Amino acid sequence: MKANGRKRLFLGLIIISLLLLTLVVALVWYLFRTGAPLGRALWVLMMVLAIGFVLYALGGTLSLVISLISGHNISILSRAREQVAYAFLPLALRVGSLLGLEKDRIRASFVQVNNQLVSQGRTKVEANELLILAPVCLQEAACVRKVTHDINQCRRCGRCPVGDLLSLADKYEVHAAIATGGTKARQLIQDIRPKVVVAIACERDLVSGLQDSRPIAVKGIANERPNGPCFNTRVDLEEVEAAIVDFLFEKRGGSGENLYQ
Ligand code: SF4
Repeated sequence: MKANGRKRLFLGLIIISLLLLTLVVALVWYLFRTGAPLGRALWVLMMVLAIGFVLYALGGTLSLVISLISGHNISILSRAREQVAYAFLPLALRVGSLLGLEKDRIRASFVQVNNQLVSQGRTKVEANELLILAPVCLQEAACVRKVTHDINQCRRCGRCPVGDLLSLADKYEVHAAIATGGTKARQLIQDIRPKVVVAIACERDLVSGLQDSRPIAVKGIANERPNGPCFNTRVDLEEVEAAIVDFLFEKRGGSGENLYQ
């Protein structure tokens, strides 16, 4: 009942917004028809805004398609491209379910698109500006270490990937933390204030995390679930390491070689 009430509030606000918009358009149209100079000026302004919006959306769509097909980034359209990608997601999920596609397949595809766009953005950060954020279901269910409180509680016994993530965090001197859910993840991001995040989660949580974290650049890596959802999950550590390296400035050794290669 409570959830229904919350949904009704959102729906109500959408309907009120649409009614207000219709009222404004009707008023401007009425003023325009009466020949009032103000009406004409407002009508022209509204047309310019509408055309600007359409051009922005078309530019973003074109930039998105070019990026995904050719790998080229039109930097001036980066923001429009990202906004278009996120705006299309609910539509893609709806169309996909009409076509009988699994939602997780569509979400996984969206995460890949996001990762490619993030890579093309070429965001580079210092090690202490990167956070590896992992879900608690990576931890071996029988383990009693309180890694959600502090990931360093892990004894790296090798029974689950948490110890390996900690070793990766040590190797690259980046932050690592375990989140029990979206609220904790947001809290961690607020506390640690990373510039970029390598996030591990199921496809559904990744997509909502990506939306929540904007404008922070996030690379998403879907966990593997050989034991079913949310239980003793796994992650491809090579993929995690590649995402870390992709985000970090090169680190040169004494003879000039890149230590992160
Ligand atoms: S690697 Fe760490 S978190 Fe995983 S089971 Fe061992 S001590 Fe627990």
